[in-house]
Amino acid sequence: MIEKAEAIVLKTLNHGDTSKIITLYSREAGRLKLIAKGVRSPKSKAMGLFQPTRHIQVIYYAKATSDLQLFKSGELIDGFFGLEEDFDRLTLAQVMVELQDRSVEDDESHPRLFQLLVDSLSRLSNQEISPAEAYWFFHTHLLRELGFRPHVGHCSVCREALVEGGSLGNGTSQLECVKCHQPGQGSVFVSGVVLQAIQGLLDINWSEREKTTLNARERRSLWDFLWQFTFHHIESVRGMKSLKVLRQLYG
Ligand SMILES: [Zn+2]
Repeated sequence: MIEKAEAIVLKTLNHGDTSKIITLYSREAGRLKLIAKGVRSPKSKAMGLFQPTRHIQVIYYAKATSDLQLFKSGELIDGFFGLEEDFDRLTLAQVMVELQDRSVEDDESHPRLFQLLVDSLSRLSNQEISPAEAYWFFHTHLLRELGFRPHVGHCSVCREALVEGGSLGNGTSQLECVKCHQPGQGSVFVSGVVLQAIQGLLDINWSEREKTTLNARERRSLWDFLWQFTFHHIESVRGMKSLKVLRQLYG
């Protein structure tokens, strides 16, 4: 059966002499794997389509019994070319697609997650928008869509409001207040200001938001919190290649 999908390229892998296996996140079918035959030959028109982060439309032959479908043709919707001039933005875009790739199940359509990824890549390629801000919004909303919304309002032990901040122990996703938390290796302390920023990311629509103002230390703890929290819920995220580059930028 011939199918059509709108998708973001998550990753590609060379196959044989001239082919590629492409993993996409599509609006219609969620995570989708296509084999594009002959696409690496110089004559192929589809060559430029398959860079990770590209927004494309594809036509492919689908077989219900296979998890690898056959690419027929495609066209570019948006290359997010603003990313290519800026190393930080490009790195964050790669983290976004790799995180999406590792967090979602195959064959499960989730149009809101697709739209979140498209909107987030578009913001990231806009030089007027803070790249970290665009990234944090993506990451917190991805967690929420996956059912892992961080609860940053109260201590998980005594239920007191975390006005003064809270700590996330290693191997847990529950924040504890200063009184309840037993400091240990790998604990991440997040100040009240940072917890409020996370709450704001989750609760306020992008269009109504004001820029998060955090100092360098607070920004670092927000990054640490996001990753520690995510590692707890999605184990395979620990092995992300782009995370190493991100750590050089922010940590
Ligand atoms: Zn407590």
